[in-house]
Amino acid sequence: MPDVYVVQGGSPAQMAYDAISQVFHEDPAELSILLKVNTGFKGPAASGLCTHPEVVRGLIRYFKERNTKQLYVGDSSIVGVDSMEALKSAGIWDVCQAEGVQCLNLDDSGMREQEIPDPIMVSRLKMSNLPFEVDRVISVPVMKTHMYAGVTLSIKNMKGCLFQKDKTRLHRINQAPPDIHKGKCLDYGIVDLTKVCYPDYVVTDGVVAMEGFGPSGGTPVELGVVLASDDALSADLTAIQLMGMAVDDVPHLNLVREYRSLHVADIRVHPADYLKWARRFRLASEHDLHLHYPNPRVVDKGACSACHAAMVQFFRYHHQEYENGPEATLVFGGDATAEDCQGGRVVLVGNCTAKLRGEGRAFCKGCPPVPSQIARTINAGTTLDD
Ligand code: SF4
Repeated sequence: MPDVYVVQGGSPAQMAYDAISQVFHEDPAELSILLKVNTGFKGPAASGLCTHPEVVRGLIRYFKERNTKQLYVGDSSIVGVDSMEALKSAGIWDVCQAEGVQCLNLDDSGMREQEIPDPIMVSRLKMSNLPFEVDRVISVPVMKTHMYAGVTLSIKNMKGCLFQKDKTRLHRINQAPPDIHKGKCLDYGIVDLTKVCYPDYVVTDGVVAMEGFGPSGGTPVELGVVLASDDALSADLTAIQLMGMAVDDVPHLNLVREYRSLHVADIRVHPADYLKWARRFRLASEHDLHLHYPNPRVVDKGACSACHAAMVQFFRYHHQEYENGPEATLVFGGDATAEDCQGGRVVLVGNCTAKLRGEGRAFCKGCPPVPSQIARTINAGTTLDD
């Protein structure tokens, strides 16, 4: 029977310390351990964008006090974001320096190809070495809504273990999912990932979470909780209920639940009345983005999360410039075709769309593209520079 502990109240470091104490019953002196944080994006510390640095401090202190054989903290950011800069802006690098723990870009540990058993969407994935070299991996995500995956929690956090540009693979699968009513390609792709990269423990940071246009353009929510479990799926199913969702609201979690044959009724959450700390998170989907901002129109055909982040940031900072025209269409993703390039000023966004250049279409280069450059290209109505 999986157990999940929800801790509320006190400092973030103490909550994290107390949470891991409840679930970690091995002797760390015998173990090398990776704290796999979430620093996919670069932004201010404790803003809901990345794992709270004090949560990381609490975990480091727990493992240092128990003479852990070797402790690492690390992540690899989305394409286009410097991983070390993201760890620094999140305040995690400073905490690691102060506590004397190695803070790493996972990509720097080298690459291995992992074969996926019984593959659904992908048969192999390129992964960073370190998560496979340590004895235990602890996923330490920050609790966020996600425009495409519903939420990003401990299971989806493991996508940061994909090596360099292979992080975009699961967003760029060009085949129909087995059952579109159960999930999109990305959801099934996450199930494939879990077959080779599943955390041993989870400590979920819900101190400052994110709602709305996550994972990068949402707004902070001060929920003030930390969760821990030795079962990642149970931790994530508990977290979504704290976020005001039903237990079957998130397709990739439903698919992982099916794959791992977990019965929700078997999950024991402590304290039993933990939902007194729940709050309804505002959700956001790609569809909502289009409703919020009808101009420019967006065509997204297989763009990865780095382009999605650029898209959200573009609307966040520039949408008011286009409320009254000029009408434009932004085309993202390597699967876009000439038929998608219709409607007002057509701007091809990101290097994946370069093959569609010509026929009067403007092109905004970049991998990922820069939001202000997208705006400049729309305004110019033509490609600005090469
Ligand atoms: S151009 Fe955009 S969709 Fe293509 S790989 Fe780069 S960031 Fe991803």
